[in-house]
Amino acid sequence: MFESKEIGEDVIRKIEMDKISRLLKADRWNTKQKVALACRMLFNAGHDSGLSGQITARVKDNVYITQALGLGFDEISVSNLLTVDSDLQVIEGTGLPNPANRFHSWIYNTRPDVACILHTHAQHISALSMLGVPLEIAHTDCCAVYDDVAHLRNWPGVPLGNSEGLIISQALGEKSALLLSHHGLVTVGKDVEEAFYLALSVEKAAKLQLLALGAGKIQKIRFDLGMEAKQWLRLDARIYATFSYHARKILRDSELCLQ
Ligand SMILES: [Zn+2]
Repeated sequence: MFESKEIGEDVIRKIEMDKISRLLKADRWNTKQKVALACRMLFNAGHDSGLSGQITARVKDNVYITQALGLGFDEISVSNLLTVDSDLQVIEGTGLPNPANRFHSWIYNTRPDVACILHTHAQHISALSMLGVPLEIAHTDCCAVYDDVAHLRNWPGVPLGNSEGLIISQALGEKSALLLSHHGLVTVGKDVEEAFYLALSVEKAAKLQLLALGAGKIQKIRFDLGMEAKQWLRLDARIYATFSYHARKILRDSELCLQ
């Protein structure tokens, strides 16, 4: 008879979450290095869409790191990143920030808890965005964003202006992710690692939803169990270890992206 046989589920979950938080190891990088890694990791994870998509990481009030327009996610390195202010004026670096970053400033303005915003046209979320339906989280792997994805049903057009910034920031509200109709995804996080991790979850959920819809009717998961899974999957240590895992795959061939 093994000793933990009589321990209740809640106690086991707490013990294991505590162990993961204390013992699961991850690498750490500075903000620019994390942005460069995230861009390349997103490229490898199906979020490539030519020059579309942006990442910003807030380093202090009204100052963000972002990538230069004209480069693909797979070309981003620390050396070609830009530091910009919330009006998209370049403070450091050479190049043009994506004008569509303006909606990021609107989100940062309303969400002091957010330090990174990701926007991509990943393939499956883009396909789902054409159907006018919300993202359904009905698989364990995707519960990091369970009950945490808003849906902007009406396409506001290319988000260049302040009106689109207001619409997008209001649609996101207090959620961690947003499905933009006829467009793509937005995820926000307290750091680059979290926003990246959530972008993977959203894209995987969209892929599974499309596959499942082709085979039958999606069965919802129980709300309390979905929330429990979310708590499990959103452990910081798990997020950082996942980021490190994907980073190792990049760094095997592209170590220079950290410079
Ligand atoms: Zn876009």
